[in-house]
Parts: sequence; structure tokens; C-alpha cells
Amino acid sequence: MNPVPATGDVVVDVRDLHKSFGPLEVLMGIDLTIRRGEVVCVIGPSGSGKSTLLRCVNLLEQPTSGTIRIGANEVTDPDVDIDKVRTHVGMVFQQFNLFPHLTVLGNCTIAQRKVLKRSAEESERVARANLERVGLADKVDAYPAQLSGGQQQRVAIARSLSMDPDLMLFDEPTSALDPELVGDVLTVMRRLAEEGMTMMVVTHEMAFAREVADRVLFMDGGVIVEEGPPEQVIGEPRQRRTRDFLQRVLDPTHTDVSGSR
Ligand code: ADP
Ligand code: MG
Repeated sequence: MNPVPATGDVVVDVRDLHKSFGPLEVLMGIDLTIRRGEVVCVIGPSGSGKSTLLRCVNLLEQPTSGTIRIGANEVTDPDVDIDKVRTHVGMVFQQFNLFPHLTVLGNCTIAQRKVLKRSAEESERVARANLERVGLADKVDAYPAQLSGGQQQRVAIARSLSMDPDLMLFDEPTSALDPELVGDVLTVMRRLAEEGMTMMVVTHEMAFAREVADRVLFMDGGVIVEEGPPEQVIGEPRQRRTRDFLQRVLDPTHTDVSGSR
């Protein structure tokens, strides 16, 4: 089904990635390899470059230097058809970005039809299957405004899944949600991980990262300060900066930890 062939098992390969906005250097040499089926959680303080890294991976931001490969495609190659590569990368943001004038089904079929050129019947069938997967089979005819934030975010996930992505990128998908709605979205993500989806997740949900991540990256100041299995990075951090961050995040009296973008 997916025309992008994998190079070995590597889904994402980032080499010496730098990104500046004018004089502000935001990413200062990131190296990262993600293999098929891996779940990588990215944690770190606001402003550390987490969103910029994610946005560089599918070229919503143009890297200043370095290379990024997705499957067999070097997306930093100026000749690459980035729209084609991006088709295979799902992205879920803090804000759900659904089309308000389309129903749930419409939101989940439009890109299938326009980008993948699927028939109406085929795209509906795929959309319904994915809405079922996120527990929203009964909401196909609803409009986004009629749904809770958690339901809207699950529609956004179903929409991404309907494009048959090789990789799903999540940028703080639960940060805009009321606390009681976070669980349903995390449950859907946990199930995706169990099904073997390759995922890169920026999150402040430490319990989720601990339980679901194969690997945790701690970013600060535009570099990966520490990475490893969650029981090490979250459980027994080696770097002082990681320990300080975790102390702030895990301290319930300190609430202002969510990223701003
Ligand atoms: P995080 O997601 O870890 O909170 P970001 O990647 O959003 O961090 O931002 C890292 C830094 O880059 C911040 O200082 C932010 O203000 C800056 N930044 C992000 N996007 C832009 C942009 N489009 N133009 C200028 N500065 C930006
Ligand atoms: Mg961010």
C-alpha cells in the first residue's frame, strides 16, 4: 500500500541538524534515528526546540543545515517531492486544525480524495475504519464544534491514520485538553503504539512516556542532552539538567510546564 520503500528498518534519520531563526539558533546539531515500530518521546522545557525538531522532520520548517531522511527519501534534497514524502507522515498538533465546515467524515476523507486520489467509496471506508479505531464510529456526521476537545483530537488522529502513514508525529497532542479528556486520547495513542506504529511524540505526560516510549529524548537549549529507555532517562536521569526538569514537571505545585507552541 505504501510506495515509499524503507531503507532497512530506519524510518527517520536526522544528521547534524541545525536550525536558526535569524540570529536565534534553535537546533544545534541533532542526530536521531528512529526505527520501524519505535515510539520515541521527546521531553524538555518550553523553548528547547522540540516543536522545531518535529516540524523540521516533515519540512514544515526548512533546516539551516544537516540532513533528514524519511524512509529512502532525503527530504533535505532540494529535488525531492516533499509533498509526496509528507503524505506518508502523519502530524497531530496541540490544536486539532479540523475543517469546521466539514463533518467528521468529511475531515477524514478530503485528503484521501485530493492527495491520494482515492474514490469517495474507498476513502469513506478507510475513514470509517479509522474512526472506529479511535472510538468515534458514532460521530461520523457530527461537525467539529459539536465535539469535545478530546473527540476532536481523536478525529485528527483518525484523519492522519486514513493516509496510511509510515510515521506519526505528535506535538503535545493533549496539552490543549481539559484534564478529564486527556485519558481517551492517550489510550488511542497507546493502542497505536501497541499496533506497531512508528511514533515521535512531544509530550509532558511523563506517565505516558514512561509506559509507552521505547526511547525518551530530553532536549534543552537546542540539543539532545540525554536519551535512553524511559526507566533510565525518567527513572534515573544522569544529567543534572534532566533531573532539574523532571523535578519541575513532576512537582504538582508547579503547573506551568507546557510548551507554548
Ligand atoms: P518547544 O517546542 O520546545 O517549546 P520551539 O521549537 O517551539 O520550542 O521553539 C524553540 C525556540 O525557537 C523558541 O525560542 C521559539 O521562540 C523560537 N521559534 C520557534 N519558531 C519560530 C519562528 N517561526 N520564528 C522565530 N522564532 C521561532
Ligand atoms: Mg512546542
